[in-house]
Amino acid sequence: MLPLLLALNLSMCKKQQAVTDKPQPGGNGAPGTAAATAAPVVAATPKVKKPVVDQTAQVLIFCYHRLVDKIRYPGTEITPAAFEAEMKELKDKGITVIPMQDMLAWKRSEKNIPPRSAVITFDDGWKSQYEVAWPILKKFGYPFTMFIYTEGVRGGALGGGEAITWEQLADLRDNGVDIQAHSATHQDLREGHNVTVIEPGGKRSRKKLTGADYEKWVQNEVVGCKELLEQRLGIKVNCYAVPFGNYNEHVKELARNAGYEAMFTVYGQPITFTSPMDAIGRYAIEANKPKVFADAVSMIGASTGGGTAVAEVGAKDLTTQPADGETVRTALPLIKANLSSVGQIEPGSVQMRVSGLGLVPANFDPKTGAVSYQVPQKLREKSCTVIVSAKSEGKKVEAHWTFGIEEAAAATTASSPATAVKK
Ligand SMILES: [Zn+2]
Repeated sequence: MLPLLLALNLSMCKKQQAVTDKPQPGGNGAPGTAAATAAPVVAATPKVKKPVVDQTAQVLIFCYHRLVDKIRYPGTEITPAAFEAEMKELKDKGITVIPMQDMLAWKRSEKNIPPRSAVITFDDGWKSQYEVAWPILKKFGYPFTMFIYTEGVRGGALGGGEAITWEQLADLRDNGVDIQAHSATHQDLREGHNVTVIEPGGKRSRKKLTGADYEKWVQNEVVGCKELLEQRLGIKVNCYAVPFGNYNEHVKELARNAGYEAMFTVYGQPITFTSPMDAIGRYAIEANKPKVFADAVSMIGASTGGGTAVAEVGAKDLTTQPADGETVRTALPLIKANLSSVGQIEPGSVQMRVSGLGLVPANFDPKTGAVSYQVPQKLREKSCTVIVSAKSEGKKVEAHWTFGIEEAAAATTASSPATAVKK
């Protein structure tokens, strides 16, 4: 008994030592909010400096491309006016824009974030992100992240006059903007797909790479771009946005080995404390999908600031259908959950939200506790998040889960424009 107690004591001391010794994370965004939320907890247990993070917080991650006054490619463009209106809406709805690195620190249990947070990201490195988006974001005091594919920077094989320059990236870096990796040439990363190979000297050819040729190529797409960004800009790159969201386990492994902490896709869903780090969904906001932004904002809950206490229920306890993490073969799934384990449900309080659809008219059977909804129109994305909430004994309870839809079944495959040459 004694040795065990001793050992416990020692390990606890060590843990506290480690926590105390930890340098304070550099605060470059959302000043005050994190500390304010954590303050009461810290005050109650003064010896532990590690904040107790809010595991029920949620983060919406938005992904933008080009900002132009005249839309010609509605799949990758948005007007500055529409962009600014969305930034304002976040503020008006009490959604706090936080640095992406704060979200990662929250997922590591190192930093608290507001219960309803958002992260702004830009893909591909267009100069309009520097010239148009940045001044708007400065007005709101919003931090943001740039995902850059290195051959698309001005002077690279794919970087034309509309591309951002290395000097502009350095300016962003000097002003605290987070710069992260988005491959070298922006193509499908899976083996056996046709890719455009750019040879030294700029000659291009279309090839199906396999075996050692593929490995060499994909290494450069995942690791080479990280090294180049880190060397050219003197930064640390810990995030990777997957071009078109097309990747697999092998690519994930390469990324992990290269030291990436998180991988981002384009399948938007509210990010929770337990969302997997190698498939963090972002909402791509483009001129041709104005509803995506509205849906995303509605997904993060209707409460205005303050945050009502919500008890998170595991999707497993609700025997959901489809199950969390399952992949189904239909884009018209029947979505079901059983709330009987939650306790007495207040009539009329049950709500179901489905990513891409928003609030849906789900059926609730008080006798069995089952809530169900038959999706009436084909779901468009390859992944679907469901949020079911209800009131039980005056308390709000909520469950989130995500299932996949087999590619062939989805109504349309996600827009995959060819490699973007910045003309
Ligand atoms: Zn991209």
